[in-house]
Amino acid sequence: MLRTTFRHRCPACGEGPLFRGRYALHQRCPECGLDLEGQHGAHYGGPIILGYTVSGLTGLGAFGLLFWRFGYAPWVTWASVVAAVIALLLTFRHIKAHWTWWLYTVGELGHGPRA
Ligand SMILES: [Zn+2]
Repeated sequence: MLRTTFRHRCPACGEGPLFRGRYALHQRCPECGLDLEGQHGAHYGGPIILGYTVSGLTGLGAFGLLFWRFGYAPWVTWASVVAAVIALLLTFRHIKAHWTWWLYTVGELGHGPRA
């Protein structure tokens, strides 16, 4: 699981890379042919919800910290928004990779042809 989430490797063989671009997944694992996209848009929703959760919590955390430290100022809000966006950019690949691992674990991804 850690290998898939943090090194972005195929959950089945642990060798093939998940990503072919910054955020785009391979359709199939280049090593073992695992169907990485799954069926019926399995990828959509989950990573976005997780991503916004991580991002929102970071933004709130940053806001709470800055507010506690400096009191309210307009820049505190902006800094929190920036922190949330940065968190989203930094974690999105990991979230998507983790989601792929989870889909594989629950049997949503397989080696066979797509139905
Ligand atoms: Zn593979």
